Amino acid sequence: MSNIKYTLEDSFKHRGRRKRLVEALRNKGITDENVLGAISKVPRHFFFPKDFWDDAYEDKAFPIGSGQTISQPYTVAFQTQLLNVQPGSTVLEIGTGSGYQAAVLAQLGAEVYTIERVEDLFRTTSQLFAKLKLPIHCFLGDGTIGLASKGPFDGIVVTAGGNSLAEQLKVQLRTGGRLVVPMGDRSIQKMVLIKKVVENKYDRTEHGEFKFVPLLGKYGWET
Ligand code: SAM
Repeated sequence: MSNIKYTLEDSFKHRGRRKRLVEALRNKGITDENVLGAISKVPRHFFFPKDFWDDAYEDKAFPIGSGQTISQPYTVAFQTQLLNVQPGSTVLEIGTGSGYQAAVLAQLGAEVYTIERVEDLFRTTSQLFAKLKLPIHCFLGDGTIGLASKGPFDGIVVTAGGNSLAEQLKVQLRTGGRLVVPMGDRSIQKMVLIKKVVENKYDRTEHGEFKFVPLLGKYGWET
């Protein structure tokens, strides 16, 4: 776990709500104590517009502008648990959005690279990372092609629903690395975990159904 100190003041009220959220996630089946610990430390309300801070600890997705959403906390916890993030590992996130998932990964001690294709979100969230002094590397572009110049990665997590891109991303994994990607049609996706076992050998497993906003781009849905 990293020792990130947030530069904005957290509050007693929000810490209490966060504690209840962590218990709710535990009751829904999240078992990784490191993931639950990271969620208990990252003030999710900082990633919401200030008028909606009190909505931040519901286990729900929430609109963040540009037709996009901050993912439901359960989904963030589930994907992070599948990634099995180790301190000092290098993780690529595709779909920066509000920046919350990236902050959870940073809290776990990962070196985080994140890509967003919507310029407004990229700008707002990069500014938020700077304000919070979060050491997260933020890129504007099409994440479906990955970020080979910064790889290979120990983990890659895709936070929008794709159709056929896993092939393009799995080659950017280090041996032993994990790719977590929701794949399916536009209305429903299966959470797919791909592990790179050795060079050119991958294991693939499926972990339940989720509903994400579409992953748009070269190896995603058409814009
Ligand atoms: N991880 C985000 C968070 O913690 O707030 C949730 C993001 S939202 C569910 C999915 C994001 O993926 C949106 O911001 C969307 O613009 C972005 N996205 C969709 N296609 C993309 C692509 N090809 N490359 C990068 N980002 C993409």
